[in-house]
Amino acid sequence: MGIGIMGGTFNPVHLGHLRAAEEVAESLKLARVIFIPAAKPPHKSEGKIVPFKDRYRMLELALGGNPLFELSDLEHRRPGKSYSVETLTQLSSQLREELYFLVGLDAFLELPTWKSYRELFSLCHFVVVARPGYSPTSLDKMLQTQVSDKYSSDSQVQGFVHPSFHSVYYREVTLLDISSSNIRDLLAKGCSVRYLLPEKVEDYIHKQGLYRNSEESIKP
Ligand code: ATP
Ligand code: MG
Repeated sequence: MGIGIMGGTFNPVHLGHLRAAEEVAESLKLARVIFIPAAKPPHKSEGKIVPFKDRYRMLELALGGNPLFELSDLEHRRPGKSYSVETLTQLSSQLREELYFLVGLDAFLELPTWKSYRELFSLCHFVVVARPGYSPTSLDKMLQTQVSDKYSSDSQVQGFVHPSFHSVYYREVTLLDISSSNIRDLLAKGCSVRYLLPEKVEDYIHKQGLYRNSEESIKP
């Protein structure tokens, strides 16, 4: 059985992340999904991100109670920016199981901007999940032009296969139009975020007074 890896900034974690991971775990019969929050995300400006310890704590609260979900501070323990290629290299040397890297379609299309992104296709399978506003037809083109023209679509795996690289699965999960940036915007405006994220996470945000000022949010 494979292991899912769910990376992200989780600023904050929301139901879109959780439901996508749950559906992928079920569809690919994964033994578990490890959530790995980025300590220093290479593509996001630090001023807008709440401290790692808060993002980690919110994940702890969100994942608690689901025996399939695990949380790792691996990227926090490593100095410097949180590059996925380093994380996946480390995990593939530590774990015997096949690794399935869960990525939203929006993030996957940005992959060519990631450090040594082609190496990732030798380290792990990808599971690309649908995200509102992004068409899966762009996935085919991106793989062919930016990764390798030997990737071909395969209906049996519901994704793409390659003679030597790992597979890229596509899963049409329940489309939840929820994003951390939208949640941050709502909080900065003093609006309700109820039912967009787990109740315990919402309580934590209010108790700690997170995302109240626009420094931590993208201005509307
Ligand atoms: P932000 O708006 O700050 O970018 P986000 O909601 O996109 O936040 P991230 O932490 O950037 O959350 O995302 C982590 C991973 O989860 C990415 O691969 C992203 O594509 C995926 N993801 C985020 N929200 C959803 C969603 N609603 N449905 C499916 N996948 C999602
Ligand atoms: Mg994002």
